[in-house]
Amino acid sequence: METFDWIVIGNGLAGAALSYELVRLGLSVLLVDDGNPDSATRCSYGGIAYWSGTNEITRELCQAGIERHRQLSDELETETEFRELDLLLTFPPHVDGESLTRQYEQFAIAPRLISPQEAQEIEPQLNPAAIGGAFTVKHGHVNPIKTVDGFNQAFRRLGGQHMLATVTGLVHINNRVTGIMTASQAYAAGNVVVAAGGNSRRLLHQARLSVPLYHTHAEIVALPKVEQPLRALIMPGIATRFEAEATASDPATDSRWDGPPDEIAPPILDAGMIQFLDGSTYLGQVSRFRTDLGTEAIDAAQSEAQIRQGITSQVPCLANVPGRWRHCLVTFSRDELPLIGPLPGVEGLHLFSGFTSPFAILLPIAQRFASWAMNGEKTALDSLSDRLLGQMLVTRFEKSPPDTTT
Ligand SMILES: Cc1cc2nc3c(=O)[nH]c(=O)nc-3n(C[C@H](O)[C@H](O)[C@H](O)COP(=O)(O)OP(=O)(O)OC[C@H]3O[C@@H](n4cnc5c(N)ncnc54)[C@H](O)[C@@H]3O)c2cc1C
Repeated sequence: METFDWIVIGNGLAGAALSYELVRLGLSVLLVDDGNPDSATRCSYGGIAYWSGTNEITRELCQAGIERHRQLSDELETETEFRELDLLLTFPPHVDGESLTRQYEQFAIAPRLISPQEAQEIEPQLNPAAIGGAFTVKHGHVNPIKTVDGFNQAFRRLGGQHMLATVTGLVHINNRVTGIMTASQAYAAGNVVVAAGGNSRRLLHQARLSVPLYHTHAEIVALPKVEQPLRALIMPGIATRFEAEATASDPATDSRWDGPPDEIAPPILDAGMIQFLDGSTYLGQVSRFRTDLGTEAIDAAQSEAQIRQGITSQVPCLANVPGRWRHCLVTFSRDELPLIGPLPGVEGLHLFSGFTSPFAILLPIAQRFASWAMNGEKTALDSLSDRLLGQMLVTRFEKSPPDTTT
């Protein structure tokens, strides 16, 4: 049986970029994905918040990330549809915009407060009466599906092997992971990296590891074609998400994430929208902090109505455009920083997940992870991976993992 240098589990933005960087350095790589059409990446807006660095590391990553996106189509020989557009972070009429300015001052490029009329000049389809104003900043944008396809094509051209299969477990010899299991056979590798998005925690649980990765059930409405051109990416100016994620990832909730289906925090609506270059448009987004992975407990019709109502009051031309409700799992960590690097106590097993704003920062992190994998080179990112190596965040079960009910 062939033994790969690396097996990468998951072909979202994380696995696609990382597998490409590994193969580019001459390593033999197997990329395995279950082909779920509704991954977080496939439901994503694809916005590149390169303005959003808040400290030296994230500013450096945002800068390196946007530079990479600017030349990625040429490098991959596939169009990622990179462009820069205006981001509008809108807030309701009863809110005083000045009271929100402090939350934006921390960013490398602070979004600017504008009136409803100025926001409408940026996005003519916006109803100025529905908002109290907005914050605006230049934002990068790519088509997420085309970006992943570009990475995949370049990966295969360089000799990477790409396989459609569900990873059902990890193969162990004592304390070492030596490969993966699928329904039909096992595959061997010197190293396995889990980049399986919202499924990562569950996969690692089977390997007797509890990692502080959590997920939301995110729901959007995908409109295949909107005739009116829409220029801006719209998202809420008051970010309730980070507060909700902090509540849901409090260490006290950890046992609940590994237990029977549970709702850790109430759902939130982030009214937003993006139109891609072909006119297809995503309306978003409801996020649910449910510990199960399926959609059984979700009322799709109710969510769709809520999403449509939230954004069509701001952008009336989107009302009644036919579309489809979609659902995905989005993973996040306890502190908005990704969990990357070797997992303590198990040789050959790595994690590459839990990114917030991955389109802004993931590309340079994937490059550095690959160069560490190849040369063991130390980088400024050590402070990120030390979060894993420090063993403070990862619990290793000595016996069988606790029962998990999906
Ligand atoms: C509506 C919405 C808008 C967003 N907008 C933005 C944005 O503008 N900018 C931004 O930076 N981020 C945005 N995000 C977040 C971003 O899309 C995600 O964080 C990112 O795509 C996650 O990528 P990933 O590769 O970690 O996970 P995923 O994209 O979920 O990929 C994981 C892959 O692993 C596969 N997999 C899982 N389990 C297995 C298994 N056992 N075997 C084989 N394969 C498996 C899955 O099918 C999937 O293909 C948005 C998310 C949503 C939902």
